Amino acid sequence: MTRQLFVTTALPYANAPFHIGHMMEYIQADTWVRFQRMRGHEVRFVCADDAHGAPIMIAAEKAGKTPQAFVTEIAAGRKPYLDGFHIAFDHWHSTDAPENHELAQSIYRALKDQGLIVERTIEQFFDPEKGMFLPDRFIKGECPKCGAKDQYGDNCEVCGAVYAPTELKNPFSALSGATPVLKSSSHFFFQLSSPRCEAFLKEWTQTAERLQPEVLNKISEWFGTDEDGKPKLADWDISRDAPYFGIRIPGTQDKYFYVWLDAPVGYLASLKALLGADFDAYVADPNVEQVHFIGKDIVTFHTLFWPAMLHFSGRKVPNHIYVHGFITVSGEKMSKSRGTGISPLKYLELGLNAQWLRYYIAAKLNARVEDLDFNPEDFVARVNADLVGKYINIASRSAGFIAKRFAGRLSADLGVEGRMLLDGLRAHAETVAELYDEREFGKALREVMALADRVNEYVDQHKPWEIAKQPGQDAALHDVCSVCIEAFRLLTLYLKPVLPALAEQVERFLQIEPLQWADAQRALGHHTIAPYQHLMQRADVAQVMKLFDTPEPAAAEPPGGEDLAAEIGIDDFAKVDLRIARIEKAELVEGSDKLLRLTLDVGEGRLRNVFSGIRSAYKPEDLQGKLTVMVANLAPRKMKFGVSEGMVLAASHADGKAHPGIFVLEPGPGAQPGMRVR
Ligand SMILES: [Zn+2]
Repeated sequence: MTRQLFVTTALPYANAPFHIGHMMEYIQADTWVRFQRMRGHEVRFVCADDAHGAPIMIAAEKAGKTPQAFVTEIAAGRKPYLDGFHIAFDHWHSTDAPENHELAQSIYRALKDQGLIVERTIEQFFDPEKGMFLPDRFIKGECPKCGAKDQYGDNCEVCGAVYAPTELKNPFSALSGATPVLKSSSHFFFQLSSPRCEAFLKEWTQTAERLQPEVLNKISEWFGTDEDGKPKLADWDISRDAPYFGIRIPGTQDKYFYVWLDAPVGYLASLKALLGADFDAYVADPNVEQVHFIGKDIVTFHTLFWPAMLHFSGRKVPNHIYVHGFITVSGEKMSKSRGTGISPLKYLELGLNAQWLRYYIAAKLNARVEDLDFNPEDFVARVNADLVGKYINIASRSAGFIAKRFAGRLSADLGVEGRMLLDGLRAHAETVAELYDEREFGKALREVMALADRVNEYVDQHKPWEIAKQPGQDAALHDVCSVCIEAFRLLTLYLKPVLPALAEQVERFLQIEPLQWADAQRALGHHTIAPYQHLMQRADVAQVMKLFDTPEPAAAEPPGGEDLAAEIGIDDFAKVDLRIARIEKAELVEGSDKLLRLTLDVGEGRLRNVFSGIRSAYKPEDLQGKLTVMVANLAPRKMKFGVSEGMVLAASHADGKAHPGIFVLEPGPGAQPGMRVR
């Protein structure tokens, strides 16, 4: 039976370009969708930008743009990534589109009619300067547990404590620096705690194959009651006060849906934009399977709020939620600051083949919620050993003979061994298909590579390059090479969900229609193929390592703005007699805006008069009574204002305009006037 599949990936937040984690999810979902289509199933595969919420409103304001313009710019940058990695969504939409406003409001009205929306007054931090309620992430202060400074309103990054923003010590607004005040406001809540919701969610989550076992285990902990007999499922605050970039709540002037209410509705909005007038019939069809691919960080939203919202608004509920783990790079969590994040766009700009990444990610994916590691050496080894060494080689070692010796015609008489080999390959079509369907891509690809090994054994046994040199062996050469080409076609078919662009090249080379899964049971027979052109380069470690190049640091400036003076010996230094001096008196010098007159005690039983160019940095009263260091054996110098008997030591940058400041040296405590500095 033809399956009707409505497939989505999580909506990316529209405040930044894609990172490698997004691409992993898209590659997973796209591979699955391509496989289903090859099986003859009908798929609608959509996504959208998640456009709303306080972070985007604030980022747009900082950039001096309207939130709409800000989000439009981010959306315009999506295409090179999606095209570049062959991610073939049927439609890409935005949660700020009219379809989403309309759908979110209609779902809300239905929930209200069901009596599942309640209004409650809550107290929240309000920024009096910005005139807005502050989201947790925009409140900072000292951790109530460990006292660490500059911690966010929801958790401490130093000790890991989780708390409410109102528990922070000395809280301040990250937007304005103002001290937030507690202000009450009326909010709308979706009553997830109601027995109706819990009963529905228990039934929905327990339905076979809806959730992965480890996800189901986790969710089971969220049901029931706590020690106080209260339901563990808490009501969900779905409203935010103006100013907010979002969808207005019907019947209010200044309340908006919390971004997480309208974000998943964006799946439906994108589908509606794709299907137009056919949307209502499609989502009412009980045969349609609704499938969401998501990361492990957003399980709550997709297994509690989202199905409950759909069910109680009289809509179709999701059939499968497929959760994946995160991607790490060489065992480390991605971090831009540590330089381990991989930019997908840089990957493409470096000329790295998008299908290498698709293959590598698919080869490491399974159906469980496990993190996946990108390791550059492993990446290169796997691409070269599997794709080039095992798979592409089969064609490159046989296709030349078909073109040169047999005018591109294949033989249909493949010999007993050849037929056995090919029948063996065809017999795996269903096993490989089941693994793809179960999202066990790693296992599927291992299966395909084991089949490629068999073909390579056949090639090594029959050595077409040797048969080709023997007179009168044309028929044998023709058969062996034709077996190789047919085997290559079958392997291409099995790899096509992962390597769509390469499969297209192979289809042109073999002069065949786009491969469908059922074609595994057919044979090329007497068929003419095009001349072979090289299909895939080997990956190169040096090229892949360029992904991690951090920009060269700018040429270092000399310290303090000037190069070090020429080297001197200790004798040279000993000639300079440095002494501790007490500043007995400091005075302005009439007629000079640069100089201060200092009266210094160097322990000689007399006082010295020194002029020092530090007036811009010090007031006379700041210096009086302080100890400093002076050059005590500098020849006296006659100046306009009198004789200067030495020099006080002070630090400054060579470029006083760019780096202002003069800093008079001060010895540590206990030094006495007259002590020598050496
Ligand atoms: Zn702490």
